[in-house]
Amino acid sequence: MMSPPRPEDIQVLAELVRRAQYCVALTGAGVSTESGLPDFRSPDTGLWERLDPMVYLSTEALEDQPGLFYTTGMELLQGLVGAEPNEAHRGLASLERDGLVKSIVTQNIDGLHHKAGSKRVYEVHGHLRSGHCTACRANVSFAALVEKVGQGQIPPRCDRCGGTLRPDVVLFGDPMPEAFRLAEREVLRSDLLLVLGSSLQVAPVCYLPQYATNVAIVNLEPTQYDGLAAVVIHAPAGEVMAALVEEIAR
Ligand code: NAD
Repeated sequence: MMSPPRPEDIQVLAELVRRAQYCVALTGAGVSTESGLPDFRSPDTGLWERLDPMVYLSTEALEDQPGLFYTTGMELLQGLVGAEPNEAHRGLASLERDGLVKSIVTQNIDGLHHKAGSKRVYEVHGHLRSGHCTACRANVSFAALVEKVGQGQIPPRCDRCGGTLRPDVVLFGDPMPEAFRLAEREVLRSDLLLVLGSSLQVAPVCYLPQYATNVAIVNLEPTQYDGLAAVVIHAPAGEVMAALVEEIAR
């Protein structure tokens, strides 16, 4: 499963990227595993093997079981803070600088695309930079929220109105944010959707490849869209992106 990418596949992918007028990348948790962050669905190492995030990272848990949300759920979220970008993030940022990737639609909340220097990033599942009050919508930094939880304030309370604070991530049960509508527009506009490190099982993001005219897939495991893709590479995203950037620079 972890075999390196084949040079002939990289050449095909490089040609697709070079020829595209508007290439958009769609990334998932698999682009960050090489930064040491576990994904949800990888066999053995995926977080799903231990606990079901649909239970403890849900609006239901936030409202009815804040103890569960702010211990187990928060532990998972905090575990995604502080990692460093890898070759996959850096490669995408470099292709964006060269005008070859127009934007990134990401399901990740770890902020690593920003950290790698990407500019046009649509974080369709939110991020870990901030939170807000569910009552008065006052903004708070994610660090302040973590501090309150660390001090045993569960659920953490808004300094202004005493309402419950929550992180700015999209929980199971939440509506999709504005970023998702903009991401849909990007995919409709694209003539190449480069999907990296996503099982393409989480709705509604998993429907996006259906709107794309041309799809390329880089993932360790097969996805439901492999049959539709112009090229499928089952290899680590970081290695593929490093090889792709090198091939394009030739
Ligand atoms: P997923 O866990 O469902 O799937 C990840 C896919 O990436 C798997 O199919 C796996 O085979 C593949 N993969 C793992 N390592 C890889 C690598 N090095 N190179 C290429 N492929 C690799 O992830 P998903 O599709 O993004 O959906 C899960 C949800 O989990 C998302 O909504 C996301 O918000 C959330 N999540 C985010 C993070 C993060 O921000 N880093 C981490 C865990 C979960």
